[in-house]
Amino acid sequence: MAKKKLTIGVVARHMEGALNGRIIAGIHQYLQPLQIRMIAIRTMYSNKVNYPRYDNPLAFDVVDGWIVINDVAEASYFTKLHERGIPVVSANRSVDVIPCASILTDNFHGMFVSTEHLIQHGHKRIAFIGDLVNPNMRVRLEGYLHALETYGIPRDPQLIVDSKTFNYAGGHHSAEKLLDQGVSFTGVVAASDMNAIGALEKLQSVGIRVPEDIALIGYNDIPYTSSIGLTTIFHPGVEMGRKAAEVLLRKIQGEASFAEEHIINCNLRVRTSCGCAADAPSGDQGQEEQNANYVQHMIESYQEIGSNLLRHGHINLQDLSWMANSKVSCLALWKDDPAQKPTLVIDQHYDQRLESVNLKGALIPGEEFPQEMLFGNEFGGSDTILIHIIRTYRREWGLLALTGSSFIYHPNERLSVGMMAHVLDSLAAILERDELLIESRSASEQIRYLAYHDPLTGLLNRRALSERIPVLLDNASKSGSKAALILLDLDRFKVINDSYGHLLGDQLLMQVTERLRLLSLEINSLYRLGGDEFVILLPHIRDKEEVIQIGEQLLELLQPVFLLDRYEFYVSGSLGISIFPEDGQDMTELIKHADIAMYRAKAKGKNQLELFHSDMNIRTLHMLEMDNGIRKALANQELQLFYQPQIDVITGKLFGFEALIRWFSPERGIVSPMEFIPVAEETGQIILIGEWVLREACRQMKQWREKGGDWIKCSVNISGRQFEQRDFVERLRFILAEMDMDPRYLCLEITESIAIQDIEFCLAQLHDLNELGISIAMDDFGTGYSSLVLLKQLPIQYVKIDRSFISNIVSKTEDKSIVQGIVSLSHSLGMQVIAEGVEDAEQLHFLHAMGCDYFQGYLMSPPIPAEEFDTMFL
Ligand code: C2E
Ligand code: MG
Ligand code: MG
Repeated sequence: MAKKKLTIGVVARHMEGALNGRIIAGIHQYLQPLQIRMIAIRTMYSNKVNYPRYDNPLAFDVVDGWIVINDVAEASYFTKLHERGIPVVSANRSVDVIPCASILTDNFHGMFVSTEHLIQHGHKRIAFIGDLVNPNMRVRLEGYLHALETYGIPRDPQLIVDSKTFNYAGGHHSAEKLLDQGVSFTGVVAASDMNAIGALEKLQSVGIRVPEDIALIGYNDIPYTSSIGLTTIFHPGVEMGRKAAEVLLRKIQGEASFAEEHIINCNLRVRTSCGCAADAPSGDQGQEEQNANYVQHMIESYQEIGSNLLRHGHINLQDLSWMANSKVSCLALWKDDPAQKPTLVIDQHYDQRLESVNLKGALIPGEEFPQEMLFGNEFGGSDTILIHIIRTYRREWGLLALTGSSFIYHPNERLSVGMMAHVLDSLAAILERDELLIESRSASEQIRYLAYHDPLTGLLNRRALSERIPVLLDNASKSGSKAALILLDLDRFKVINDSYGHLLGDQLLMQVTERLRLLSLEINSLYRLGGDEFVILLPHIRDKEEVIQIGEQLLELLQPVFLLDRYEFYVSGSLGISIFPEDGQDMTELIKHADIAMYRAKAKGKNQLELFHSDMNIRTLHMLEMDNGIRKALANQELQLFYQPQIDVITGKLFGFEALIRWFSPERGIVSPMEFIPVAEETGQIILIGEWVLREACRQMKQWREKGGDWIKCSVNISGRQFEQRDFVERLRFILAEMDMDPRYLCLEITESIAIQDIEFCLAQLHDLNELGISIAMDDFGTGYSSLVLLKQLPIQYVKIDRSFISNIVSKTEDKSIVQGIVSLSHSLGMQVIAEGVEDAEQLHFLHAMGCDYFQGYLMSPPIPAEEFDTMFL
């Protein structure tokens, strides 16, 4: 795999303004030739007092270093970065909570120069306007005062006005205040251009001429200032951005010192408002016309988006693609689960590229967002992603991510990003309104709600289904269309519920529900019938393929691990599908048939879907009968164990035996375990049967030993369902004590599929068994996954080579080498090998030559009843 590209994160309150815009442009300019990626997060968190600032570890795992612009982030944000060792540079603000490099402009010097310029024009009564809450503005005030002092001009507190904000209104009010006070002044230095423009308009509105009556200088040099001839201090944002990027890269390489401070000088942009002679006016007719078109386009587009929002509470991302020339975009919402790691759910994903995967519904931990494919630079995507955080005062809802960097350089696109923010904020407001609606449901609504909903998951219940289906079927038959019913039953639910308790089971059901919701079907499509049974109703389907596709999607959704109370579980589901009108005319029939199909899916190995066929009726009937039969067999003692000897290949002596179950049914005759064990596994009867087998085998051992027999190995087959029980070892210990059995003589045969299910758990369980002194054999080796890697990990003592290899060991060289391979490998891992199904002497000869330890098979004896075994071998 190619090495991940270096990625720089930038956090700013907004990006469309001149200051932040310039800093971001500077960063981008520096990074682009180096082919370094940029993720720009636009927080829009207010910088008002008491309003929380940004503190979100979004993209922490993706980004190699951060540039934080202005005081947009909480102190805790910096601490988090620091703790994780992620380098950070602060632009336009110094940070003291952590050792942090900062890139600053010389605000003191800038305002000194501004004031000095007016003094040089001969002014002595110079007023200062600025937002004194903002620390950068307070530094500017210092610069103003220092200039007065340097030139011996006394300060007048009445000439210093707190504009409270950096914007137009602040300037307007400040000028008004100056005029109202009636103190004389001939010049104004403003701490921001917007303040200056507000002041300018106030002054002009009362007939004061600038600069003839009062001279004025602004600060920052935003684009508009040149068109009105405002003299101002140029804020070197681009320069700062470049410096920030350079320092950050050095930090990432471990070359920069912790707390470097870089100060970039501002300089004076002389125009006319200070009293200097006029420059040639700039103005571009063509550009203006282009702007007008763009604005027209923008307005139309936002109208479209806005009305979509109102009608559906929805944004169509494709509508936004024109905006940042974005080829890829996605809208993601935070998943509402405080107990878990903050996770984003992709609500919508738009990708213009061919063959792109739709991420809709994907769950992505916030720290890992945005994933590689959201960049997609290989296919004409971009190395830059703009992320807009969507939030209301109450909380953070999610984000919109757009690839593309054109918003950095094109003023119109910058503007459109700002407008987009408003659209998104309305989206959040709509979401919030829905949430509030739920909270304020009245009591009678609550009652009605409960009658039709499952209180645990909030899904519709069986009653709702029974009222909905007739309506739906009626509509479908009138219009001649098809409908489908999918029945979902979780595969391991009972085991989890029984061994971990109902609270955990409930958690699982809720999480499954969440995943089902990701299917985003029509409303009223999801039902919980009870237990672990869910119904998905599809009112209009084209054909079977469509249902199968949805079913497969559903199985996929269940695949990722479930985290329940610190435990990890893999829980699959089995799906049965019935289709209206073919498979049933009413709810009872459709559910019954979906149920039959679902059973079939389970019997075929679970974690799959099955469509109903009419011949299934018979098969299921057979299975139900079998289930009843097994129940009776247990009660009426129709079960018996047979014993098959295991012989030492070299000495020919008896090594042990395998206990194999037989069912003597009065109705059916002898039933093969191959026939009834799978049914018992499916229905859970295997637990009872398995314990009976263990007791019976132990009882037999004890009897033989009491007659004076030697200890020999007793092997018992254990099914996955038994082994999965959390208290399996506990129960086994109990049985051994009860039967007075020495665990060293017991061997449990398990199959590879058991180990594959949940390797961690399996390992722990096997260690416990080993500790008790019980040995373990891997049964039927070679037929399943046959993972030698797996074999190596497991604490087992015996490997049983499956019969199918032994039967061809003489004739097929391939099988011969497989057997040889298994023998050698097992020996090298310290395990012994038992060959199964040895039927003739030639096979045994081969096994002997290969160094196989034990064999079992008709050559010596088929499985036989205890009395026979006794006389023949003991
Ligand atoms: P397995 O554990 O692999 O048992 C070996 C199977 O091979 C037995 O079939 C045995 O009768 C048969 N066999 C042994 N030697 C030869 C031979 O030389 N030639 C041929 N053709 N077959 C031979 P069986 O008894 O029908 O059992 C089938 C399977 O049923 C077992 O396979 C085991 O997986 C399962 N089973 C049997 N008893 C129990 C039990 O008590 N509990 C559980 N969970 N499963 C059991
Ligand atoms: Mg076996
Ligand atoms: Mg076997």
